[in-house]
Amino acid sequence: MTTQLTNVQVRDIEALVHPYTPLHRVREIGPLVLDRGKGVYVYDTQGKEYIEGMSGLWCAGLGFSDEEMVEAGTEQLKRLPYYHLFGAKGYEVAIELAEKLKEIAPVPISKVLYSSSGSEANDTQIKLAWYYNNALGRPDKKKIISRVKGYHGVTVMSASLTGLPNNHIDFDLPVPRVLHADCPHHYRFGLEGETEEAFVARLAANLRALIEKEGPETIAAFIAEPIMGAGGVIVPPEGYFAAIQPIFEEHDILMIGDEVITGFGRTGEWFGSTAVGYKPHTISVAKQLTASYAPLSAVMLPQFMVDALESESAKIGVFGHGYTYGGHPLGCALGVKAIEIYQKRDILGRVRGLAPLFAARIAKLAEHPLIGDVRVKGLVGGVELVADKKTKRPFDPKQGVGAKIVGFLQARGAILRAIGDTIALCPPMVISEAELNELFDRLEKALDDGEAMVT
Ligand code: PLP
Repeated sequence: MTTQLTNVQVRDIEALVHPYTPLHRVREIGPLVLDRGKGVYVYDTQGKEYIEGMSGLWCAGLGFSDEEMVEAGTEQLKRLPYYHLFGAKGYEVAIELAEKLKEIAPVPISKVLYSSSGSEANDTQIKLAWYYNNALGRPDKKKIISRVKGYHGVTVMSASLTGLPNNHIDFDLPVPRVLHADCPHHYRFGLEGETEEAFVARLAANLRALIEKEGPETIAAFIAEPIMGAGGVIVPPEGYFAAIQPIFEEHDILMIGDEVITGFGRTGEWFGSTAVGYKPHTISVAKQLTASYAPLSAVMLPQFMVDALESESAKIGVFGHGYTYGGHPLGCALGVKAIEIYQKRDILGRVRGLAPLFAARIAKLAEHPLIGDVRVKGLVGGVELVADKKTKRPFDPKQGVGAKIVGFLQARGAILRAIGDTIALCPPMVISEAELNELFDRLEKALDDGEAMVT
């Protein structure tokens, strides 16, 4: 967007490789170098203000520079800036956060195993599923089912679970043992005239067929986000999880809930699983766990898995897994404080209160000539751009219409993210009604800019 680059933009281009960026076009795009944040706003190095409509990467749910969070982090840095949990060492904030997670968990959870990122948590989940089946004497029960358009991270295994081509192409992924099941995206994958109910029944039948073809004795686990985020904010149709869950139960397949985006109030429930009727055995959390004031993730485990891990570790002599920064004291202190704030400021209640306005403003966007489908749950939503509303024909990806529209929006002082041609919205949960309306007003104008560009 920028023609005249500032000094800091030039330094950025010369020093950084930007993730999820067309690396050949960084100069042309012009990096947006941010300087500070306050509430739902961030400010670039030129002092320009932006409404952060994505909470960064679906994660800064308490907005920026919350004073209580800053204080909790500072206190922890002064008291114990680093320690680890290896060799039965510990510190109280790690214990306290695990206790809080057990309290708010949507399913029975016995213990917590920390890591630093969502990718690491999901990677750990798969290692644990394998270790678990080895403990139970089932060495062949190792394949993992994830879904097309699911997003689970970028490590070798979590990127393999991710069902998006750009995470696989030329990274030589996915690795073997990963199966991708259907995506529950009715607008895109429903057949002509197929009701949501019939669509769900078809997906459940396909899933059963996949498991039977592979052999249930070879399948360890299924991993799913309650609502797919980075795949394009895909809210499953009513009854989807209720239809597929019994298939896994019947075949003794572990269910993993990837709550990295949907955890901690995003849907108006503590966990997105509750909002969509999913009952996973084990859960991955990250992002809003600390409101992203420090990196931290966790795997929440039921008693029967803990029992198996303990018995296998007894056999081998040690549980040979752990990260230097897994359960970093700074992350744990900020996790404890974030959950305390979610509770005392009634953030879940806030999300529920704002949800009707958010849904109404998203529904209004469906009338825009460029919008084919809109999807929403709690305070997360997506609007899908189409070249032709009637036929649902998408734009040619080479046109980069989504990216251009979020560029127009940025010029108008708001930040959202284009996932292909879906524009995602995931504002900080502390946003006010006025700020939310302002975000949508600016988005409507950016969509009009986009319409003028394509017509
Ligand atoms: N799982 C989900 C559902 C995510 O949305 C993400 C990141 O966006 C991840 C896992 C990976 O988390 P991280 O980027 O912290 O590795």
